[in-house]
Amino acid sequence: MSFAARRAAAASVPVVRGAGAREATTTRSSRVFASRAAPHRSRGGVALGERAERPARGRKYLRAASADAAGASADDDDALGEADDEAETRVIVITSGKGGVGKTTTSANLGMSIARLGHKVCLVDADIGLRNLDLLLGLENRVMYTAMEVLEGECRMEQALIRDKRWRSLALLPISKNRQKYNVTKDSMNLLIDILTDQGFEYIFIDCPAGIDVGFINAIAGANESIIVTTPEITAIRDADRVAGLLEANGIYDVKLIVNRVRADMIKKNDMMSVEDVQEMLGVPLLGAIPEDTEVIVSTNRGEPLVLKKKLTLAGIAYENAARRVVGKQDFMIDLERPKKSLLQRTKEFFTGAKE
Ligand code: ADP
Ligand code: MG
Repeated sequence: MSFAARRAAAASVPVVRGAGAREATTTRSSRVFASRAAPHRSRGGVALGERAERPARGRKYLRAASADAAGASADDDDALGEADDEAETRVIVITSGKGGVGKTTTSANLGMSIARLGHKVCLVDADIGLRNLDLLLGLENRVMYTAMEVLEGECRMEQALIRDKRWRSLALLPISKNRQKYNVTKDSMNLLIDILTDQGFEYIFIDCPAGIDVGFINAIAGANESIIVTTPEITAIRDADRVAGLLEANGIYDVKLIVNRVRADMIKKNDMMSVEDVQEMLGVPLLGAIPEDTEVIVSTNRGEPLVLKKKLTLAGIAYENAARRVVGKQDFMIDLERPKKSLLQRTKEFFTGAKE
């Protein structure tokens, strides 16, 4: 089958199957297509109202949870009042379903970029057993303790957190060095996120393992937002679609998309799906499009995220752009074919919707 035919087939399959034929955990595209006509209806058998929205993780929430964990009485509530006006911590899980599409690369670059924008960021490596976020950040030699030791009372959270020497506002928390993912539970994940929230982090990114089994379920347990990473390939998109359904079924409705390893030359020749095609198939708002870039490998080997390079490559610019969008600083999307277009021009385009 030609590429164009496969693309058309992939786009049409869910529509052909019809709305009644799927469960929440299979495919979501059809619901996406259906929901365009009738937004905010019950989706894929999981009514939106069935699950409560996840609580925002302000410090107030956190202290209540820690008090519970410590077996404190409800009388302690008074102590919570003072934190009422504190900012909420954003807990964002970076996930994909398929492995090798760029979750860890995205976690490292978004985390570093947002730390450089002046925010306190913690990166949680929840890819237990296959952790490599420490490598991408060049922090592998400094992993002494992990979250497992914190949970077992062998060390304090401050001891397990590895502060990046380049940007002190960035910290890494590996969950485990060599244990099985089955050692971590949803409750322990929630407790960890609560402790991190109490440490004053503004952004907590959770680098999720591939797959949709227990590792995935644990990794998303503490999150209230998600970034789905996919490449413009049918296999990755199908997995991303499935993950989007699972996120929704688990009460995570704030979901954004990063399309990674985009090649403008292949899109031009109609050998690769365009970013718009991918976004439409998934029906998830686009946060960023990251081009294929050999510098990614160089930066991984050096343990230095792309966004730290003095002369940014296109992928570095695209990650910075996405990071700014996460913190709400920039609304326009970078044009991968003409990244150097002036800010003024892009802003104009954003407001008028016109492209020259
Ligand atoms: P995941 O965490 O989803 O398994 P990784 O971030 O580890 O994925 O990336 C998988 C591989 O793809 C790595 O070898 C990485 O160097 C490569 N890669 C990721 N993004 C890009 C990109 N934009 N351009 C080139 N190579 C990339
Ligand atoms: Mg990874």
